[in-house]
Amino acid sequence: MKRQSIGILAILLFGFFNLAAQDSLLVVQNSFKEEQKILVGALSGATKIDADHQLKGRWTAEERALTRTYLSKWIDQIGLKAEEQPYNMPNLNPLLDILIDPYEGTNLYTIVPATVSSDEYIILGAHYDTDRDCPGANDNASAVALIASVAKRINTLKIRTKNLLIVFFDQEEEELVGSKAFVRFLKSKPFNINTVLTVDQMGWDMDGDRNVELELPTPQLEALFKKMAIPLGINVYSTKVDATDHYSFREAGYVAAGLTEEFVHQDTSPYKDTPKDTYDTLNFEYLASSTYLVYTVMEALVTK
Ligand SMILES: [Zn+2]
Repeated sequence: MKRQSIGILAILLFGFFNLAAQDSLLVVQNSFKEEQKILVGALSGATKIDADHQLKGRWTAEERALTRTYLSKWIDQIGLKAEEQPYNMPNLNPLLDILIDPYEGTNLYTIVPATVSSDEYIILGAHYDTDRDCPGANDNASAVALIASVAKRINTLKIRTKNLLIVFFDQEEEELVGSKAFVRFLKSKPFNINTVLTVDQMGWDMDGDRNVELELPTPQLEALFKKMAIPLGINVYSTKVDATDHYSFREAGYVAAGLTEEFVHQDTSPYKDTPKDTYDTLNFEYLASSTYLVYTVMEALVTK
């Protein structure tokens, strides 16, 4: 074969494999999108969550219990075991405990176990509660769906050298009570926690650039996210926002960061904590794209 023909063949082959790679990326993202539409639909009350209930929000004890039952079933279906962590937490001012009952809630978690013996854990979390009568499609059914999809796909990996703990926090909207209770629970376990990432609001992308914000990452986590984001054409901006669950972990001395839509860069849902935070305002393309990014980061972390 002439050198020129080899060159052309190489270009054709490269083009073919590149197309094939993009194709499979599209297939994976579409599968995320399909399952996430179902999850967000049920959690935000666009569809029924079981035969008898359609949620108005995830605020009351009953609404939160229905949410957990639904998510537990989903966890069972992907071949993992759902565990509940019920808790009581005192009010911020202990004197209030005399007047108001302490907080009562339940975190839900599951472990995608390492395939080799390991006490090391990566934690990926998202809160499932909302304010009263808020459907909370973006805040925070979006991130609940994101971590659910990541758990499912990480569970299909042949080799994992670390455990991945997926946690759905209760009562983030109440002074981060759920994640604080989960930190207290972790301290009582022999878990060696490598990294914590919590995700909050991941379904708004009006300008269509698919960019995300990483909140208070370590230099290592920031570098990993950026490395994985480049081939996907996503910009990862680091910010110093700490107003959500990752704060509870950092306060307790863990390595923790947050991930969200462009909150500081002002491409974020205007419907947060309102009855307008509905299913039909959610950008499922963006959610699937961000899910894929988090998946690649988690894959790197649990196989390293
Ligand atoms: Zn939130």
